[in-house]
This record gives sequence, structure tokens and C-alpha cells, in this order.
Amino acid sequence: MNLVAPSHIANYIAGTLQAPLNNRYIPNINPATGEMYSQTPDSDEGDVASAVIAAKTAFASWSTTPAEERFRIINRIAQLIDDNLNALALAETNDNGKPLWLSKRVDIPRASSNFRFFATGIMHFSTDSHNMVDKAINYTLRQPVGVVGCISPWNLPLYLFTWKIAPALAAGNCVVAKPSEVTPMTAHLLSEICIEAGLPAGVLNIIHGTGPGCGAAIVSHPDIKAVSFTGSTRAGREIAATAAPMFKKISLELGGKNPNIIFPDCDWDKMMRTTVQSSFSNQGQICLCGSRILIHESIYEKFKSEFVARVQKLTVGDPLEDSSKQGAVVSRPHYEKVLACIALAKDEGGTILTGGAPVTVGGRCAHGLFIQPTVIEGLGAACRTNMEEIFGPVVTLQPFKDEEEALLLANTSDYGLSATIWTQDISRANRMAAKVQSGIIWVNCWLLRDLRTPFGGFKNSGVGREGGWEALRFFTEPKNVCIEL
Ligand code: NAD
Repeated sequence: MNLVAPSHIANYIAGTLQAPLNNRYIPNINPATGEMYSQTPDSDEGDVASAVIAAKTAFASWSTTPAEERFRIINRIAQLIDDNLNALALAETNDNGKPLWLSKRVDIPRASSNFRFFATGIMHFSTDSHNMVDKAINYTLRQPVGVVGCISPWNLPLYLFTWKIAPALAAGNCVVAKPSEVTPMTAHLLSEICIEAGLPAGVLNIIHGTGPGCGAAIVSHPDIKAVSFTGSTRAGREIAATAAPMFKKISLELGGKNPNIIFPDCDWDKMMRTTVQSSFSNQGQICLCGSRILIHESIYEKFKSEFVARVQKLTVGDPLEDSSKQGAVVSRPHYEKVLACIALAKDEGGTILTGGAPVTVGGRCAHGLFIQPTVIEGLGAACRTNMEEIFGPVVTLQPFKDEEEALLLANTSDYGLSATIWTQDISRANRMAAKVQSGIIWVNCWLLRDLRTPFGGFKNSGVGREGGWEALRFFTEPKNVCIEL
């Protein structure tokens, strides 16, 4: 197949590509050039209602399709993603502003891994049996929930979209999914791939549109029984408020303000190399980026000078160039938000050690949205800069004197998504890992992902866990059957 980004993106409903019923569109802007290069449906509850009808119709057959057959079809989707790596990566970069090498190396390969992982996972999924000796035997059925909603953000578009859709489909559900309206293109191309792969009509429906206009219609639809959402804590709160009185299952993967805790006995070179990545990969627009760097006071000055020197070498430039380490941030509202956060940090008394300003990239990117990687020091743990998610190329440095203070700083946050701990002392690593209030702890590494592990956050970073069996459990309803002997 030959995937080409269309000028008008279409909804994927009942196995066909369709214009939105209201015929309204939103401009789709390439943030690296500032140009509108396609239009996205501004769908509303009418399109969502059609998608739900298609999904309900498909459910009877898909939910009873043998796991081997679901495996075969979902695996074919994974293969077609691999076969179309270059076209998908280019679409992701044009939509999001991230470097093309990153889309090719991370985003698109991970999307096919998500499908492959859950296609195989469902072949091994098993349920419990509880034996009451000489009295009864219980066994647990795990049945698909029904029609489920999957809503995802713009930072890792196809990667996170498929992370939800793949387990939902593998478990036998039919899906109404919405990608971010800011980065819709690879979701559109996925629709074409699903048609080519022979996914039966209505099993997956992809509706494009805004959060209030389309996402909210998915969440409030009475026939959508579960919602898996990744995005901001603000939207997560709204979704929870709608879903709770309707008794829907919800999985919420929300914001973060992750600490990166550095002790003097760390492997210095590895820590330094990884900390540059964990701070600025994808322009800092990964929920797992370490945005608060906590450094033991004995190495604070050494860390600061070496880190700043390395950050200054990060090339910000055209995402299509291999030499660009940093691309554009995703949209003009986000660009303005990040710059406002930097201005706030200055107002709060922070010192900008490097960065802090927009970057003008010439040529085709003359009107692009580029920001210098920015490092700030001199702020307390409880100020807004250290408490609120910026989600851009901005990190702060804070010194600590001992483990106790490091923990206090790390846990002074309403968020609790991930943390990184750098030390060669295994006892200290274990002590810290047990006490840091985050759902994901990396010791001497970052973003090392095993898709079987539970993924999700404490506190305002979310509710529930994704990944491995956790995802397949979320997308199934357990039913206990008790047989008296
Ligand atoms: P967002 O909350 O604005 O939007 C996310 C998605 O939800 C979009 O598709 C949007 O259209 C939709 N949406 C918005 N309001 C909605 C509503 N009321 N009802 C239903 N749908 C709604 O988030 P964003 O700006 O796209 O993404 C950035 C955020 O995502 C950051 O906070 C980041 O930390 C978070 N994030 C979290 C994880 C994680 O795994 N925890 C991963 C990536 C991003």
C-alpha cells in the first residue's frame, strides 16, 4: 500500500472513511513551518453516535472471534505499520514538530510493538480458579467490556493511541477512539492500514475532533462502558466527573512533574548523558521527562557547569535534518504557554542558566515554533515553576543535602508519575524507590520500557494502570462462576 497524507482527514466509521456529518474542519498546522497542510474533521456527537452504533453492531461477532483470529488480524496491522515506517514517521514529524529520526526510531516502531505485544498477549491471557476443597469450584471468566472509548494526546501521537487501542481490540472490545486534534494524521493513516489489514467493519472507529466537541461526546455516551484516557490532569478531572455517576470504568494517565535525583556515587557519564535525554527528548514533551533535577550539594556546581555546557550543544533545528537534536514544540498555544512559564520562573526569582528564549530557524522553518532548551536554578520546591507541569524544554535544578531532603523535595508535588534515581548504592536505591511517591521508578536509567510492567501514576498523575495484564484486565469484566460439588 502507498500511504499519503491527504488534504482532508476523514473519520473511520463502520469500516469506511467518511467526512464529518457537520462538514466542519479544523486547520492542521505543521509547527516547524507554521503552514496549514491539511484539515481535520471537527466532529461532534452525531459522528460519535454513528461510531457507537457501528461498534455495537460489530461487537457480537468480534467479542466471540477466537483469540487466534484476533491475533492474526492485529498482527497484520503491526506488520503494515512496519512496512509503512517512512510514510508514518514523516506524517508524525509534520504534525508534531519532533525530529524525523525520533519518529523513525521511537514513535512508529513502538506503535507496531504495541499491536504485536497485545496480539500475542491475548493468546497467553488466562484467568483464575479458586478451589473450595470438597465443596465447590470457582472460576473467573474475563469477558470484553463492550464498546470502549480511547482518547489520546499529541506528544506521542500514534505511540499512545495504539497503546490503548491494541489491548482493547485484543481483549475483544469494539472501540471508538479519538486522537488529539493537534496531531491527527497518523491516526488517519492507521484507519487506512486497518482497512487493508482486514479488520472487520466497526471493530475500530476513529473520530477526529476537539476535546469539548468530540472527546466529551465519547465520554458521556451511555453505550460506551469504559474510557481509557491519556492527557492533561485538567481534562482527566472533567472525564472523571462525567464518567463516575455513569459508573463507567476509567483509566486516566495524566500529567507529571518528575524528579530526577542524583547522588554523588552515580555513574557520572551515564547519568549526564541520560539526564540530557530525560530532560529534553521530544522537546521535553514526554510525560516521563524529568523536569525537576535534584542534585546532591557536593556535586551541584560540577553538575551545573557540565550539564549546561552539554545542553548548549543541543542543536535546535528543522525536524527533517538528522543533525537536529530538538525540533519544534507542538502548537502556537503550547509555544506561548511554555514561554509564559519561563517568564513566570524569572518573576519567581529563578536564574536562567541557559536558554529561555525562542529560536529562529531559517529556510522553510522561518515561521516555526522553536524554543531553546532551558535550565533554571534558584527556585524553591513549592513555587509554581516547580509545582506546575510545563511540558516543554524547561528543567529546574535544586540542591539537596541528604536522602531525607531529596525525598522531601521529590515528594513536594501534586503529581506522581515517574522518578529517576542515580546511585551505585543498591541499598539507597531500594530505600529511595520505596519512598518516592511515583508509579514508575527508574534506577540508573530512563525510559527503559518493558511493555509487561504496570504503567501509571500516583496522586494527580492518574487513576489505574496500563501495560501488560493490567491493560487486558481493564478491558475485560471479571465474572465469577461458583459450582457446588
Ligand atoms: P489534553 O488533556 O488537552 O488532551 C488530550 C486528549 O483529550 C485530546 O485528544 C483532547 O482532544 C481530549 N480532550 C480534552 N478535553 C477533553 C474532555 N473534556 N473530554 C474528553 N476528551 C478531552 O492533553 P494534551 O495537551 O493533548 O497532552 C498533554 C498532556 O498529556 C500533559 O499533561 C501530559 O503530561 C499528558 N500525558 C500523560 C501521559 C501519561 O501516560 N501519563 C502520556 C502523555 C501525555
